[in-house]
Amino acid sequence: MNSTHFQYWPARLPKTLTVPKTTLYENLVITTKKYPQKQALHYYGKSYTYKQLLDEVERLAGYLEKVLQVKSNEKILLFMQNSPQFIISFFAILRVRAVVVPINPMSLTKDLEFYIKDCQIKHALVSQELYEKVAPLKGFTSLQNIIVTTYSDYASEEQAIGNLPPEVKAPRQTLSQDISWQEVQKTGFSPSPYTGLADDVAAIPYTSGTTGLPKGCVHTNKTIQANTVSAYQWMNVTADAVALTTLPLFHVTGLIHSLLAPIYAGSTIILFTRWDRDYAAKAIEQFQCSHWINISTMLIDFLANPNLKEYDLSSLQVIGGGGATVPQAVGENLYKRTGLQYVEGYGLTETMSHTHFNPPDRPKMQCLGIPSFNTDARIIDIGTGKELGPNQEGELVVNGPQVFKGYYQRDEENKEAHIEIDGKLFFRTGDIVKMDEEGYFFMVDRLKRMINASGFKVWPTEVESILYEHPAVQQACIVSAPDPRRGETVKAYIILKENAKGKVTEQEIIEWAKGKMASYKVPKIVEFRETFPTTSSGKILWRVLQKEAMEQKTAS
Ligand code: AMP
Repeated sequence: MNSTHFQYWPARLPKTLTVPKTTLYENLVITTKKYPQKQALHYYGKSYTYKQLLDEVERLAGYLEKVLQVKSNEKILLFMQNSPQFIISFFAILRVRAVVVPINPMSLTKDLEFYIKDCQIKHALVSQELYEKVAPLKGFTSLQNIIVTTYSDYASEEQAIGNLPPEVKAPRQTLSQDISWQEVQKTGFSPSPYTGLADDVAAIPYTSGTTGLPKGCVHTNKTIQANTVSAYQWMNVTADAVALTTLPLFHVTGLIHSLLAPIYAGSTIILFTRWDRDYAAKAIEQFQCSHWINISTMLIDFLANPNLKEYDLSSLQVIGGGGATVPQAVGENLYKRTGLQYVEGYGLTETMSHTHFNPPDRPKMQCLGIPSFNTDARIIDIGTGKELGPNQEGELVVNGPQVFKGYYQRDEENKEAHIEIDGKLFFRTGDIVKMDEEGYFFMVDRLKRMINASGFKVWPTEVESILYEHPAVQQACIVSAPDPRRGETVKAYIILKENAKGKVTEQEIIEWAKGKMASYKVPKIVEFRETFPTTSSGKILWRVLQKEAMEQKTAS
């Protein structure tokens, strides 16, 4: 029952995809040769042509190689919100054949400490508003150098800077031994001739996969290029396209669909640091945006804007996204407002964004889509590993050119995450799906214990282990509760220690958690219990509590 079974394939698209052997950095060079003076990027009133972008990439690469002595395959921390500097850093790291380790800007110092130690990172590229989270780790870990941006790197005082978010505008304090972005750009070193290869490791984005422990996903130029070209073809990203980039670029969906595919095509990117529905509508009208890849919460907010009818959205040609299910009512509302059908996709950090996409000409609602180019997707029985057919629920496993090379230095987890079928190695997604007769896949449940809060993934075991640090907590169980805006949200069931009962409130636990974890992981609901349902061996039956959380909400 392999992909040849699928009965529907969009007529516009070739059956298989030929992926050029060029690297991601070479994509930028090729596009710049074709369109040197074309606008590559607009960022709150500041613009870069492709030539300007590449020039800045070369200067930073020269500094990395000649001053910091960065070697090929060395891992570099990229800890920035969306900004031109993120993009310049991304390509400069690849230019010297080093490896980008892109980190969620919401990470706290202790999260960063883990990544830095895991990848033995010596150098970090950091945006000013995140600097304070990294600075304490210098000297204390392998981290030696921080290159940090300043406000003036984003926009000069005279320029209209639109809605540049206040945290980006704020002045910052750095240590005198840090390296400023401006200093780098002034030095003018040129890097040695480029020798990168398609098989070079290019990026190690982190995920918690199916087990809840953070792990780096090893991606080469080749695995990333596969989905760059696939996104370019599937979403019809042409040189004339204008991409509204509101997704964070550290995450694979934003990286592939809102940065790498547009650069491959030679399109123009309208870059946002922070989501703002009015500014998005204004930008679509002003820049005639044609492509917008987003996440359902953004779309819901966008469509709920009472001022939306004042904007001309007629330039939009493709709207889609993935990471979380798009409610049917939202898809219908979008269609009513724009005449466009939402192109939902599915994928993971391990697969560098999509393995599935809805055919743009024949999408289904609340559907993951069909396997994309050169992707073999099967459904297996969770207990026996036996392959299943249409309308049978089982774990989704995938094989394709976008699938990662494994978790960085995690042999045991790599074994568990793969299964051999017909002599081919398939990655086990941990998602329970089913397929209809036409080969469209649908999400049913999750095998992995994960909460998907509008695309932000929360691993209950991590939140629980932090809650156990609270002196009043005897036992904690984190589950997913339904949320009208985020789809799912984090709920904590807690058994208090005897001596804490009546002395601590649910709200106090929430406030305490805010200082201990990234905001999207903080439980939004806390409920105290006297006991938990457990197995005879004392293991908490979290699925029972999960069901209760779901039903409580439905009943209310
Ligand atoms: P991440 O590694 O952060 O990209 O998260 C991957 C996970 O997001 C998958 O394993 C799914 O559980 C979930 N996911 C991705 N796309 C969708 C979708 N279209 N609908 C529902 N869940 C999704």
